[in-house]
Amino acid sequence: MRISILFFIIYGTFALKGVNGMETQPSGMEIQAHNSVERPLSTEELSRTPKSPEAISEVDTRLPTSLKPLRYRIRLQPFVNGNFSIFGFLEVEMEVLETTYNITLHMLDIITKNDTVKVLGSGGVEQRQVGIKSQHYDPVRQFYVAQMEEALMKGERYTLQMEFLGYLNDQLRGFYRSTYKDVDGNSKYFAVTQFQSTHARRAFPCFDEPALKATFEVHLARETWMTSLSNMPLAATRPAKGQEGWVWDRFERSVPMSTYLVAFVVSDFSYIASSSGEGILFRVWAQPSAIRQAEYISQLGSKILAFYEAYFNVSYPLPKMDMVAVPELQAQGMENWGLITLRDRIVLYDPDVNSVRAKEKLVEVVTHELAHQWFGNLVTPFWWDDLWLNEGFATFVSFVGSAHAEPSWKKMEKFTTEVLQKVFETDGLESSHQISLPVNNASEISEIFDGIEYNKGASIIRMMMYFLGEYTFRKGLNSYLNAFAYSNAEQDDLWEHLTAAAHRDRKLPESLSVKTIMDTWTLQKGFPVVKVARSSDGTSADVSQEHFLLMKEKKSCRTQDLRWWVPLSYTSQGEANFDQTEAIGWMKDSDQRISITSLPPKDQWVIFNLQQTGYYRVNYDDHNWNLLIQQLKDDHEVIHIVNRAQIIDDAMNLARAGQLSYTIALDVFAYLGKEREHLPWMSGVSNLSYVILMFQRTRAFPALKLRGIRIISPNRRSEVMCTAIKAGGEREWNFVWNEYLSSNAENEKISFLEPLGCSRNVTILSRYLEIGLNPSMGTRKDDFKIIFNSVAKNSIGRQIAWTFLTKRWNDILPFAKRKRGMLLRQVTLSFNTPRDIKDLEHFLQDRNTDLAEVTKTADQVKERARNNVMWMEKNFHEIVEFLEDHGYASPKLCYGIFKSVVIVNLLCVVHIQFSFHAFPGTGSFLTGHSFRGKPVSVLHECDHFIEQKNMFRFCMLLLALPMYPSTSPVLLLRVVVMRRPPPPSAAMPPSGQGQGWVGRCRPGRRYLNLPACR
Ligand SMILES: [Zn+2]
Repeated sequence: MRISILFFIIYGTFALKGVNGMETQPSGMEIQAHNSVERPLSTEELSRTPKSPEAISEVDTRLPTSLKPLRYRIRLQPFVNGNFSIFGFLEVEMEVLETTYNITLHMLDIITKNDTVKVLGSGGVEQRQVGIKSQHYDPVRQFYVAQMEEALMKGERYTLQMEFLGYLNDQLRGFYRSTYKDVDGNSKYFAVTQFQSTHARRAFPCFDEPALKATFEVHLARETWMTSLSNMPLAATRPAKGQEGWVWDRFERSVPMSTYLVAFVVSDFSYIASSSGEGILFRVWAQPSAIRQAEYISQLGSKILAFYEAYFNVSYPLPKMDMVAVPELQAQGMENWGLITLRDRIVLYDPDVNSVRAKEKLVEVVTHELAHQWFGNLVTPFWWDDLWLNEGFATFVSFVGSAHAEPSWKKMEKFTTEVLQKVFETDGLESSHQISLPVNNASEISEIFDGIEYNKGASIIRMMMYFLGEYTFRKGLNSYLNAFAYSNAEQDDLWEHLTAAAHRDRKLPESLSVKTIMDTWTLQKGFPVVKVARSSDGTSADVSQEHFLLMKEKKSCRTQDLRWWVPLSYTSQGEANFDQTEAIGWMKDSDQRISITSLPPKDQWVIFNLQQTGYYRVNYDDHNWNLLIQQLKDDHEVIHIVNRAQIIDDAMNLARAGQLSYTIALDVFAYLGKEREHLPWMSGVSNLSYVILMFQRTRAFPALKLRGIRIISPNRRSEVMCTAIKAGGEREWNFVWNEYLSSNAENEKISFLEPLGCSRNVTILSRYLEIGLNPSMGTRKDDFKIIFNSVAKNSIGRQIAWTFLTKRWNDILPFAKRKRGMLLRQVTLSFNTPRDIKDLEHFLQDRNTDLAEVTKTADQVKERARNNVMWMEKNFHEIVEFLEDHGYASPKLCYGIFKSVVIVNLLCVVHIQFSFHAFPGTGSFLTGHSFRGKPVSVLHECDHFIEQKNMFRFCMLLLALPMYPSTSPVLLLRVVVMRRPPPPSAAMPPSGQGQGWVGRCRPGRRYLNLPACR
């Protein structure tokens, strides 16, 4: 309760202005902090009180179930331009569900004024006051408790009133303050809220659990030159009596909603208005100088809101929607009902400054938060253990929304590489967790906001949509949303409505429910690999399932019995019908193996998991793998684009897990030279990046001087700045840093942060990390993650970032401890030696390392590092020899390749310069013009050539060049994927014999630092 003590200091010099009833002017009011217990605790309370901080996680921090809030009235006067205090008044009407003597509410960083607390019977005509025996505060549970002199009777209603004092903190949670610089460089303050998950209690005492929905009437006091916003439209504004220059805004009473969705903003922001659907007022707010950059989200937001209304067939229930671009926000966006907050650097958009990728991110965030208006806001999980229902749906639906907003991006296809294949990596660890998790206290609740909840949630919802068919899926959703509107639900409720729809449309047999299927995906961690072993004539297959683990640790035996209800879909070479995505058959959780007949003869391939709609991997016998590889080489377009990406991802990960030889997996890459679609390339690049990461520290990476390339289209700008900083010194770094500081365009600023971490100068990198922790140097609190990751990704910076993290752990983001886990994950990605593991364990076991909110990440990070060590032992030499056997290990040849790459590079640039007019692309060309007043010299923009058959692979090489030197294994790997494989006569071990030649040395071939032969 550090803040309570602070209050006494603040209020000693501060004139009190009451907010109770808005017009009162209390004098000399007694303020009492409830940070100490005023009476002896009862035996029952004592038994619930922890003995030590470690025991906190075992304490039941849930509110008693005796009271239910019905209506809140909240008045807040935040002194945004003063000493950041908040005068508050709360009135909450409650219904008694079980007779009780106590009123228990959540409260944190607030002090109540004891003598203003009143409890009134509110059922009858006369409001009888109930005497209060005592009040106390329980800091462990974050409870305010008022004990009554008489029992509050079941079935009756009572109203609690109190005045309190709060504080606009600078910790990006609760009701907090933040600043931005206006065009003249003056600091402007504003106040904004972030209540999810358990921070509403920091702004006003409340029943801060998602199932305790109530209506809210919000009153905010503001200075006349500022604006206030809340979830509902403004109802009236009145001058604040006795306070010149202040007014009170009263907002309409809200629909029933959870406390974590209440929101306020007090600022001097400007807005753009549009309207959506049935006259819903839609406004986007941003700091005045940036409002023009909000045009795009203004159009996008209203369009998506109307689209979702049609998609769910449920109207948006509020009369307005405000979206506020906020300079400092813990998350990328927050879905507060009717008042969405978004991080301004993500959502403000200027096509001359932002890349296409940045625009995609923006659309992702906006469509995600808007989807929550239905999933989360209208229907809310009872408790945080079903958080995945919120986040999984919003993540999946955001792809549906993005596909509607920008059809050319093919977002529904990209789901596989951007979401599903990504989360496979975490969910393939033994230390992964089930999606539906029991959580109790605030720290555990915060910790579950991770990739599993979002990305696995979205992936299994997508799987469900495909096995039910979209029509049935949407009908089930509509019935679920209508049944639980303004109320709460759990996953079983959703399963029930989807089952009813599925049975009605005959998508599932009467004997099978959605719950039976989906419980296997939500109540256990991980996912299966389906193994397809075809008979010798090919016409039948033995299909089995097994828990997929990236690396089975020796002691592992715990999880081998996991099985799932797996929707099977497949096609064959003769049919090649990839649209049949509804399940043709099911593999039950009781089936370890089943037999499938009627497959084509053995000279034709089969592919399972069409369009990768199922949340599982597929492995085949070597013969079928080779048929698939041959098809890719002969005519890859016969295979659906998503399945091409799937084949690459499955093959590489099966090889990583030791279930397929790298010889086959790398052979899949051979066709990529002809691939013109993004998706398979994304899969390829992200999988190669693992190999790259492992190889990275086996050789130094000398910088490639690419001076001269200054500015290109926004889509490549970061890469080029990175190259310049890498090759340059203090001067170049300072140049970009000053660009960052002087830029007024928030959406542009973010593009400088990452390149600044590319320096190869140890002093600069250490200084950069320090700057990141010190917002007075010009960065923002939520920038630290970008700054840290940029240094951690840099091969020179990794050790600096690791040392920094371990030394400063407890100073880093103390208000968002969960984010430390993300930093830890990033910096340890390339840990692959026993020494690395020792360092990591030493750090994690240190008693001074506060692991609150990161315990699961810590386990995952340890497992990943151990996997990497095992991977290196097993695969490093196999891959090195694969390269050698393909003729890429000789320095002479490599020089030849390098030379040709340089020529290609030049050709590419020349070609682009002469012919870019012929390729109207999505990125913006800035030829012969200027970027922020500086001349643009060289262009090389490969996005425009993706459609150009022969140029694409050259451009991929070109892109690889600035990042990696020609002599590294990385480039060799990249060259491998560009080249056709050598004829069979080449010295390459036959497939399936990979194990036999792992780790063998080769006389005279020391190029890749292989152990020399004695
Ligand atoms: Zn969300």
